[in-house]
Amino acid sequence: MKKNISKAILLLTLLAFIGTPVLKAQTKEQIEKALNEAYEKFKNLKEGKNADYIKELASVDPNIYGIAIVTTDGQVYTKGDLKSAVSIQSISKVFTMAKVIEENNPKFIMDKIGVDATGMRFNSIVAVEMQKGKEINPLVNPGAIASTSLIKGADSAAKWKSILQVHSDFAGRQLSLDMPVYISEAGDNLRNQAIAHLLYAYGRMYFDPVQSTDIYTKQCAISVNAKDLAVMAGTLANGGVNPVTKKVCVSSETVKYVLPVMATAGLYDDSGQWLYATGAPAKSGVGGGIIAVVPGKFGIAVISPPLTPAGNSAKAIQTIKYIIEQLGVNPYQITPKK
Ligand code: GLN
Repeated sequence: MKKNISKAILLLTLLAFIGTPVLKAQTKEQIEKALNEAYEKFKNLKEGKNADYIKELASVDPNIYGIAIVTTDGQVYTKGDLKSAVSIQSISKVFTMAKVIEENNPKFIMDKIGVDATGMRFNSIVAVEMQKGKEINPLVNPGAIASTSLIKGADSAAKWKSILQVHSDFAGRQLSLDMPVYISEAGDNLRNQAIAHLLYAYGRMYFDPVQSTDIYTKQCAISVNAKDLAVMAGTLANGGVNPVTKKVCVSSETVKYVLPVMATAGLYDDSGQWLYATGAPAKSGVGGGIIAVVPGKFGIAVISPPLTPAGNSAKAIQTIKYIIEQLGVNPYQITPKK
């Protein structure tokens, strides 16, 4: 009798497990296949153009094409060029925002910056002016420079050290600055200086505007390869714990507030189209990188410098869309209970 009961319990447990509406598990083979297929399909895509408003970016090899996936249990999958590094650019905005939330609280960002998408280009001055410095967004330049200004630290050097450290923790190795990119942008970033000063005039810049813009320019020039970016995305997918080094970079509570902003504003004014196609929070940078997060499963990153008119890597968009679709991991894809 007892045996029959335990058999029944086992059967029920198995049935419950089979019936659980989880997305199908991704095997090693499925991930490798999706990566290989995407690479072959898009390697010759000739869409887009390198950013050239930062002079140094115009001369980056447009043929760099690297893909990496890092799962929440620390497996690393790669394809293509993993050696070439590019500047992280706007992808850094995610990690500085995370640090600001971590050092304060989610409401702090809402009050000091705002989280609604501007729906405008990433360096729009009109967006600041229309809202009188309120409701800017941490993932576009005005809100990002304001985030940088909010990082704790006695002076500019301490703030920069803290920002570089959080990026390195997410990547799982000590990152460094791409000096030529930094010098190139620092010598030519009057537009970002203007944004910082306009915010300052509205009382929405929280440290010296010249120095804040300089730290922001440095954070954008951090040098990363596709694997670095995928580990960073994988850490977000894993609730703030680096799945490779196991270091707690930020709390899962912080990540809970970072991902929605990536979902609504990560690809600038193309964020809606992106989310519609993938369901995945993501962030692009004009260096040619895009990261995307499949919460609880994996982080993915692609580097390919030529950009669409909205400023997002053309090849990275296609590649990540394809892989998410092939693996069936769009977080909004629900298996109905029958
Ligand atoms: N450093 C760049 C800028 O401020 C970052 C922009 C981006 O990647 N979209 O213009």
